[in-house]
Amino acid sequence: MISLTKPITIPTHSKPKSLIHYYSRPTRINIVGAEAVDYTYPGGGMGVHTGRDPNVKKPAWLRQKAPQGRAQCPNIGECWNGGGDGIATATIMLLGDTCTRGCRFCAVKTSRNPSPPDPMEPENTAKAIASWGVDYIVLTSVDRDDLPDGGSGHFACTVEAMKSLSPDIMVECLTSDFRGDLNAVTSLVHSGLDVFAHNVETVKRLQRIVRDPRAGYEQSLSVLKHAKLCKEGMITKTSIMLGLGESDEEVKEAMADLRAIDVDILTLGQYLQPTPLHLTVKEYVTPEKFTFWKDYGESIGFRYVASGPLVRSSYRAGELFVKTMVREKNIFSTTGS
Ligand code: SF4
Repeated sequence: MISLTKPITIPTHSKPKSLIHYYSRPTRINIVGAEAVDYTYPGGGMGVHTGRDPNVKKPAWLRQKAPQGRAQCPNIGECWNGGGDGIATATIMLLGDTCTRGCRFCAVKTSRNPSPPDPMEPENTAKAIASWGVDYIVLTSVDRDDLPDGGSGHFACTVEAMKSLSPDIMVECLTSDFRGDLNAVTSLVHSGLDVFAHNVETVKRLQRIVRDPRAGYEQSLSVLKHAKLCKEGMITKTSIMLGLGESDEEVKEAMADLRAIDVDILTLGQYLQPTPLHLTVKEYVTPEKFTFWKDYGESIGFRYVASGPLVRSSYRAGELFVKTMVREKNIFSTTGS
C-alpha cells in the first residue's frame, strides 16, 4: 500500500504523533520465486538479490542530497513550500507506525498486534492540518489487518473531520487493500475524499516476490475498480515501482490492466533498497526511460502520469491536475451543464 521508501516527516510544532516517519527496520524475508538468492554478511542477513551486481553504485541521477535537518525525502522542499504551482502538500500516516504485513521492499515496523488506533487521531489531525495552511493532504497508513474494517472507518472519520474544518482542502487517501473488502472501500470513498489511491506496487509476475502474500495484483485491481465505480467522478490513482526486474512488456500489461478499470493517475518511480535486508535493486532505470513511460502512459489514456527516478507515490503527483479536475467537476455539478 505504501510505495517506495522514506516518506517525509512534516516540519511543524503541532504535528500529531502519527506523522510519517518510518525508517529502516528489518522486515520478515520469505524467499518466494526462482530468482531469489539469499546473501549473508557479518552483521546479519542481506536482502534477497534480484539479479544486479550488488557492488554497482547508484547512478548520478539518484545521488541527490536530501535537504539537511528535517527529512530524508529529496522532494520535501517542493512538497512543503509548493512546487512552483503554489500548492503546498503534506503527507500524514494514520493508524500508527506498525504494519500487520511485511512487504519485502518496505522498511516499516511490523507486528501481528499493533496498538489500537488513537480515537482522537481524526480530530487532532484535522485541527493540526487546519492550522498549517496546506492545500493538499495525502492521508496514508500501514495495513491494519487486525481491525475488522482494516481501518477504513478511521480514515473516513479523519477525512470528514478535515473537510469540516478546512472545506477547501484536497484530500487524497492512499490506502491498503482492506483485504479486498469492498464495503470498506465504499465507506471510505463516500467520506468526502477527492482522490482514492491504492498502489499495485509492481507488475503481475513480481507480486509474490515483492509484496506480502496477503496482497495481490487482482485484489488491488478489484479495490481500484470498485472505488471508481461506487461513486461517480471518483478520481483513482496508483503507483508502480520500477527496477525490480520487470520487463517492458510486463509494465505495458500492468498499464493496460489499470486503464481497463479506468485508473486516472499513475506514478512510476525507481525502487531503492531501504536496508540490506530488503529486496535489492535489479536495475537503475534511466531518466529517459521514465520519460518514455510518462509519454506511453498518457498515450494510452491515463489523465496524468508522474514518472521519474525520484517520483514517490505521495509526491506532488498531479496535485495541480487534481485540483483543476475536482473544481471542474464541482462547477459541472453546480451548473448542471
Ligand atoms: S502493507 Fe505494510 S509492509 Fe507492505 S508496503 Fe504497506 S506499510 Fe509496508
